[in-house]
Amino acid sequence: MPEQALLRLAPPTASDSGRLPMEADGRAIWATLGEAGQLAGVYRDGDPAAGILTDHLDRLMTDLDARFGIASTLPVCIQIATTVPLLALGGEPAARALRDALAGTAVVALAATDEGSGADLAGLGTTVAIEDDVLTVTGGKRWIAGATYADHLLVLARHRESRHFTSFTWVLVPADAAGVTIEPADTTLFEGSGTGHIRLDGVRLPREHIVGRVGRGLTSFASHIAVERLAGALWAVALCARTLRQTKARLEERAHGDVNLWQLESIQQRFALALLRTHQLDAVVHRLAERVAGNRDTAAAALLKAAAATTVEAVLTDCAQLHGAEGFTTAGAQWTRAQAALWGIGGGTTEIVLGTVAGAADGLLAELPA
Ligand SMILES: Cc1cc2nc3c(=O)[nH]c(=O)nc-3n(C[C@H](O)[C@H](O)[C@H](O)COP(=O)(O)OP(=O)(O)OC[C@H]3O[C@@H](n4cnc5c(N)ncnc54)[C@H](O)[C@@H]3O)c2cc1C
Repeated sequence: MPEQALLRLAPPTASDSGRLPMEADGRAIWATLGEAGQLAGVYRDGDPAAGILTDHLDRLMTDLDARFGIASTLPVCIQIATTVPLLALGGEPAARALRDALAGTAVVALAATDEGSGADLAGLGTTVAIEDDVLTVTGGKRWIAGATYADHLLVLARHRESRHFTSFTWVLVPADAAGVTIEPADTTLFEGSGTGHIRLDGVRLPREHIVGRVGRGLTSFASHIAVERLAGALWAVALCARTLRQTKARLEERAHGDVNLWQLESIQQRFALALLRTHQLDAVVHRLAERVAGNRDTAAAALLKAAAATTVEAVLTDCAQLHGAEGFTTAGAQWTRAQAALWGIGGGTTEIVLGTVAGAADGLLAELPA
């Protein structure tokens, strides 16, 4: 039985992180959740290889959203859904990093997005040369959450030239290895996320730093990013619901003649549409959650990602508009709206996931009434 199984307690919450201020960074949140034994509790039997528990993930994402900003929650979400389960694919350094990550004592950044190719993952230029005992990793990764405070970088690299999906392999790179340099991304929007750019200049490592099997990098990425898309969709419901509640409270406080803004018919219509969109997202997330968590269904995950991105954009844009000038205060509704544009870009742009939806159109159509 894995050691983490002993840690499975109640559904994890972020309540143990109550002593952290709202602006705590992703590393501090991760450490606190790990120390409280709550990270392992998100997985079946406390084992990331056994899959994620949807209701625990839902609760955790909702609690994190209530307590912390988008920037600090982002690297926690990526690690729980994608990075930690990928580490379970094996290799001795990966097993050690996994144990430390679950304890909250190590942060592992997921370094997939390449400096040259971005959304086109199969075009990535970072290479790993595999010799008998030694690996050499060379290239660059950009916009990697957690990179500036990570202990390890889980790097997706190509071990041969072809764009074929079997040309890619995961390598666990210690962030302090010779040849690694990391700089913060030039943005104030995501402070607390540790987002940064990574250079890998001929980084030499023992062969055991390969994670999983050589040539399985892209396949395992596709299967695990599906769970991140589920986590992002659950988080999106929480974010939209919380923002709608705040917006309604503000409208009710804001005087307009003899009434308040909430009582205006045109505002109620606009608000109701945003509320409808949030309920639609909630319904589709709960309809598809088990298919993604249990079967890593990539078409269902793409539907969720596209639904979350378009819903977040519509709802947060309307809520920000309804805040008037107050929306432009620091960390106000316009700021949140700008951060939340990430739902349409990070972990697969809306165009890319809609392409996956279109590719699975016949199967998805068959699920609907004829
Ligand atoms: C705050 C933040 C944190 C991030 N964290 C991580 C992380 O932890 N790990 C990681 O690996 N990556 C991370 N990313 C990177 C993210 O996954 C990429 O930004 C994303 O995959 C898109 O790549 P790109 O930015 O290079 O876009 P580009 O490839 O430059 O594309 C630009 C735009 O072109 C359009 N486009 C691209 N391809 C297509 C297409 N096939 N069809 C139609 N339109 C298209 C889209 O509108 C897209 O937004 C993060 C990004 C941000 C902003």
